[in-house]
Amino acid sequence: MLSNCRRCGRMFSKVSRDICPECLKEREEVFEQVRSYLRENPGSSVPEVVEALDVLLEDVVALIQEGSLILRDFPNFNVACERCGQPTQEGRYCNNCKSELAGKLAEATAILRKTKDEPAKGRYFLRG
Ligand SMILES: [Zn+2]
Ligand SMILES: [Zn+2]
Repeated sequence: MLSNCRRCGRMFSKVSRDICPECLKEREEVFEQVRSYLRENPGSSVPEVVEALDVLLEDVVALIQEGSLILRDFPNFNVACERCGQPTQEGRYCNNCKSELAGKLAEATAILRKTKDEPAKGRYFLRG
């Protein structure tokens, strides 16, 4: 299946990623650069690293959101949660939002199950 690379716009045959093999290779290089930079400068923030290495911010954000970088030892290296803006070091959402979203999902599942278990109530609503 042909698709446009989300990073450079070139057409490529999509396998599992939304970026082309060339971009993937470049992103892997960014990953290596970021990793060794952080090892030497563990207190760096994302903008500092992007500026120092002259790499694309979107690559660094993607690496963090994919969970490729292990960031336990780098407290300042994080991106904003897409839901509340709090800093997060893995995935698109912070831990709070992650557990809240998981809770909402469980709630929705529970409601669905409850509705299914109470056919009498369902009939009542159907009759209006
Ligand atoms: Zn590309
Ligand atoms: Zn959040």
